[in-house]
Amino acid sequence: MSIHVETTDRLDIVDITDELQQAIPDGFGDGLCTVFVQHTTAGVVVNEHETRLLGDIERYLKELVPHEDGYAHDDLDGNADSHLRTLLLDESVSVPVRDGTLALGTWQSILLVECDGPRTRSLSVTCTS
Ligand code: ZN
Repeated sequence: MSIHVETTDRLDIVDITDELQQAIPDGFGDGLCTVFVQHTTAGVVVNEHETRLLGDIERYLKELVPHEDGYAHDDLDGNADSHLRTLLLDESVSVPVRDGTLALGTWQSILLVECDGPRTRSLSVTCTS
């Protein structure tokens, strides 16, 4: 199945933990759930959903990969930094499932990191037991 996520800024972080939990089929027991981002300018990570930290993550990405820094791809569509920032993320995350529930640690959330928003992003979800 797929989930769709609206992002609201060019660089944006959206907690998709609840959406992924809801994508696990009823009656699913133990297994593994993988969420895969079907884009080249957004990624997923597992990290803490704490407001100041989310700001720090955005700062980190901006500092490591500045916007409009003379990249060749900018001549095409002006979003080279978006692609390069996505290289620092993952395109998929796999989480163990126990009794139908994502087996995340206390401070772990699944975060979609938007690098070229705002857009509607599609993520493929596969749960296997
Ligand atoms: Zn591009």
